[in-house]
Amino acid sequence: MARVTVDALRKEYDTGSVVAVNDLSLEIEDGEFVTVVGPSGCGKTTTLRMLAGLEEPTAGRILIGGEDVTDVHAKNRDVAMVFQNYALYPHKTVFENMEFGLRMSTDLSESEREARVVETAEMMDIADLLEDKPDELSGGQKQRVALGRAIVREPDLFLFDEPLSNLDAKLRTSMRAEIQRLQNELGITAVYVTHDQHEAMTMGDRIVILDGGDLQQQGKPTDVYERPVNRFVGGFIGSPSMNFVDVAVEPDGDRLHLTDPDGEFAYDLSAAYVDRHADELESSRYTLGVRPENVTVADESAANAIATTIDVVEPVGSDNFLHLGVSDEFIARVDSDVRLEPGDQVTIAFDESDVHLFDAETGRNVLTRERDAPTVTT
Ligand code: ADP
Ligand code: MG
Repeated sequence: MARVTVDALRKEYDTGSVVAVNDLSLEIEDGEFVTVVGPSGCGKTTTLRMLAGLEEPTAGRILIGGEDVTDVHAKNRDVAMVFQNYALYPHKTVFENMEFGLRMSTDLSESEREARVVETAEMMDIADLLEDKPDELSGGQKQRVALGRAIVREPDLFLFDEPLSNLDAKLRTSMRAEIQRLQNELGITAVYVTHDQHEAMTMGDRIVILDGGDLQQQGKPTDVYERPVNRFVGGFIGSPSMNFVDVAVEPDGDRLHLTDPDGEFAYDLSAAYVDRHADELESSRYTLGVRPENVTVADESAANAIATTIDVVEPVGSDNFLHLGVSDEFIARVDSDVRLEPGDQVTIAFDESDVHLFDAETGRNVLTRERDAPTVTT
């Protein structure tokens, strides 16, 4: 296993008119499981393919285990990649699929290769499939074989490109747990790409968020969740998504008075709070962000209570999502025993410590929730 350094890695296509990956720098620790997440087209696959040696960077460097491999051919990098479409050889048996890579990448004897394949197949619970061809297998079994084929090589670095996207929800959950178990047992260094923020948040020791080829933020899942550096990250991470309201800010004595253009929404930040953040609050237009789970149904007398109407009640079992008549879309996540109906009038409230303020122009988070001191790195 190995530490990986990605240094100002860049990939342009079509003579520079497409910048798929824009000067990305990352340090991945030995044994760390890093998830890379972002919308379709943000540069995830291109990044992985450069790490694997399948795509030549336009600029920048890649170091694996301290060795500069930027110009090293894919087959001479000790890297295994697992794809969404499994990429198994259709005419080879499971055993042959698993053994083939070992034959190519190691000088183990035939009996040593066989022992490794059998041992890995047992670990992956596919020992009874070794004589089968891929088209005899279910989707879940194929993905297990693809994982086994990667693991049997004991590479320095594992790369996963949306490996579970073709599986149904239940199988995806169990395969996620399985990959995490293997990761723990084997202590593998892994980069796992997904467009699914939930998968990225639950699997990663660290999460890296890309948009349009640009690194947005990296950090522990909880850090990124609690202190998104910009509006994109605030909205991308978390489900249901963070609520946003465009607000104008005016001083009101020692406080700050926030209002939306429709006059439906008003919120005062306290003098003490404003005092602590005086340096950051220079603009007059922001987007206020608050997460659905931080919004409560409150008494009319609560601080900053907002009177509104319930548009839709979306029951999801343990919780109800209340879609409210604030801004374009505004959701409160409440306990399922809160009995409310569409059309009901309610007052809602949220604490100022849960408020994010994003600069209206740059999207930068100037005032993030202040549960802890910010430790965000970008
Ligand atoms: P993701 O995996 O995050 O969906 P990709 O890394 O596949 O994104 O693509 C990033 C960007 O690079 C996209 O805009 C995509 O259209 C472009 N791109 C990827 N491969 C090529 C290619 N071979 N030629 C031209 N453009 C490409
Ligand atoms: Mg992709």
